[in-house]
Amino acid sequence: MNGEHVILPKGRLGFRLGKGQCMRVVDVEGQQVADVMAYHEKDFYEKFDQGATMDSLFSSKVKKGDKLYSNLYKPMFTIIEDTVECHDLYMPACRQEMYQLLYGRTHLEVMHTCYDNLRTAFEPFGIPKEDMYYPFNAFMNTVIDEKGKLSVEEPKSLPGDYIRLRAEMDLIVAVSACPADIGKCNGSSCTSIRVEID
Ligand SMILES: [Zn+2]
Repeated sequence: MNGEHVILPKGRLGFRLGKGQCMRVVDVEGQQVADVMAYHEKDFYEKFDQGATMDSLFSSKVKKGDKLYSNLYKPMFTIIEDTVECHDLYMPACRQEMYQLLYGRTHLEVMHTCYDNLRTAFEPFGIPKEDMYYPFNAFMNTVIDEKGKLSVEEPKSLPGDYIRLRAEMDLIVAVSACPADIGKCNGSSCTSIRVEID
């Protein structure tokens, strides 16, 4: 899987990433969220964990040099480069029921979700479907005010901005170009994500 892979708008990509390999997640046109989820290559019990990452870092934000942790509190990734420094560690993958609750969309109106993208991307690797995914949401701009009110604002990423992650264990990774075409999550429209693996 080395090389460049373009994820079309609302699409997905699943791949192996060996320990020491790097992946660059590029926001091609800007203001596009990419949900990144990962499992230990051989032990699917071990997976990326938002809460364990915040707990380990004593922070709800990540920066260059930080590690992203698994539910077993082991480093899964190290952030090697980051041109945006605005990502999300709070939000679950978007799913049909979320669009129904928050936006009143019917089942038939929701064609693509990050939940389905991640589930589908992991399927060929034999990873069982989860009841929910809590990914590293690259470029997602979640704002929490002093009263705890939470809002998802437009991403700060400009065209070509990226985050580069090095695998700290053998991984299976899935990336979803978030299909949310409502609200400010992905700016004014859903666009593509490029993943460069080396
Ligand atoms: Zn999404």
